[in-house]
Amino acid sequence: MNVFRHLIFSAAAVALSFCTLGGAAVAGVSRPKYEARGSVVWEVPNNQKVVALTFDDGPNPVYTPQVLDLLREYHAKATFFLIGKRMEAYPDLVQREVREGHELGNHTFSHVTLSGKPRSIFSNEVYKTQTLINQYQKPPRIKLLRPPGGRVNPDTVDFSEKSHFEVILWSWQQDPKDWSNPGVAHIVRHVLKNIKTGHIILLHDSGGNRKQTIAALKIIIPALEKQGYRFETLYDLLKYDKKYKNLYNPGLEKILPGTSKAGGKTGSAVP
Ligand SMILES: [Zn+2]
Repeated sequence: MNVFRHLIFSAAAVALSFCTLGGAAVAGVSRPKYEARGSVVWEVPNNQKVVALTFDDGPNPVYTPQVLDLLREYHAKATFFLIGKRMEAYPDLVQREVREGHELGNHTFSHVTLSGKPRSIFSNEVYKTQTLINQYQKPPRIKLLRPPGGRVNPDTVDFSEKSHFEVILWSWQQDPKDWSNPGVAHIVRHVLKNIKTGHIILLHDSGGNRKQTIAALKIIIPALEKQGYRFETLYDLLKYDKKYKNLYNPGLEKILPGTSKAGGKTGSAVP
């Protein structure tokens, strides 16, 4: 990653001030700066009525199959931000996610955040999980990282840039907090009333009783399809913004850190 970008975030780290964007704690710099440089993704505006469904914390033997059944029924694609140790426990579910055309993202091995911990703990968790993901979804792929809790600070971004991950959060209007079981009607209303093309919708297929999420999905997916929306993976959604087009060039180090000649100084972080 370029030096200029690196310097901006290092300098910003000095001016620590927390704010909440999309339910994610973002420290140090403003969203426009992160977003303009493509370091952190909240949404991908486009004029094609395309949005992204994302599911965190799985796989889960009870709820993930139900999510997958619904996605299949409506020909919708989604992105699953997986916890590595759960991938180890439920490999068949990961396999099914990939087989049915969905995208895998990294949500660390045991759901740890970088905040207040040595970077090595976080990075080891991310690398371990990425090694698992690569077994299912072969590189070259864009590597997607969603830090647990959406906690992003300059240190997270610095780590992600050096390790060639795209940090993916979610649209601030699209966090219905389904993990707190606020009621099916609340989840549905929250998503439908706020939807805009390019939104990234945050839901969970694990981490507790997700019956409400499933029930809400049964309403949300057909309702949005009726309005003309399509559901694509993050991999495909990012294509709508030319800022990310370099991610799709297999000649670039961004996709294959540690295996490309260009990896050199900045690509050495991946074991
Ligand atoms: Zn999570």
